[in-house]
Amino acid sequence: MYLKRLELKGFKSFPTKTDILFNQGITAIVGPNGSGKSNISDAVRWVLGEQSIKSLRGDKLEDVIFAGTDTKKAMSYCEVSLTIDNSEDKLNIDFSEITIKRRAYRSGESEFFLNNKPCRLKDIKELLLDTGIGKDGYSIIEQGKVDEILSNNPVNRRKVFDEACGISKFRYKKQEAERNLKNTKENLERIEDIYIEIE
Ligand code: ATP
Repeated sequence: MYLKRLELKGFKSFPTKTDILFNQGITAIVGPNGSGKSNISDAVRWVLGEQSIKSLRGDKLEDVIFAGTDTKKAMSYCEVSLTIDNSEDKLNIDFSEITIKRRAYRSGESEFFLNNKPCRLKDIKELLLDTGIGKDGYSIIEQGKVDEILSNNPVNRRKVFDEACGISKFRYKKQEAERNLKNTKENLERIEDIYIEIE
């Protein structure tokens, strides 16, 4: 499983459709200061569901959309697609490659797609759990992440190891089951109240 392709359109400093193809092995992105290298890693985090604009080095939602220059007008939306090779079936989905796409408009609306079908962020999150990919995964190691791994905070450090050894999925499922159980208990109590009233 590896990152095969990243397609940007209207994202930060990439107004026109830009296709970046990756091969297996090491790829380095080089360029002068301010040419958009970090915007590429921001795009990877954003398409995987990053909701914190601060961690994408912006102040407001629309800061990820191309803001325009003297010669090019601003875009009304942006789109990032990320394609992952799944020929070894590491992801629990019946496709040899998957493309995750996120589109956002200046109005603040944001849509997700999995192989071009609309989906929820939750679907993407669940698909990528325990793979290390994902906005909280360890596939993107930024400076803060290194601090987190080395930090004395055992809770933060444990999250990284949980993801690496495949425990996150169960922790997530447990939390979801506990939430459902709580809702069901509340519904049962409500039914009991109605039942007593009717009696
Ligand atoms: P360095 O090597 O200095 O870290 P870099 O190659 O990583 O630089 P980035 O930080 O990725 O560069 O890109 C910065 C550029 O992106 C700036 O010129 C900035 O104006 C531009 N930029 C960021 N957001 C937008 C936006 N929404 N619209 C247009 N341009 C943007």
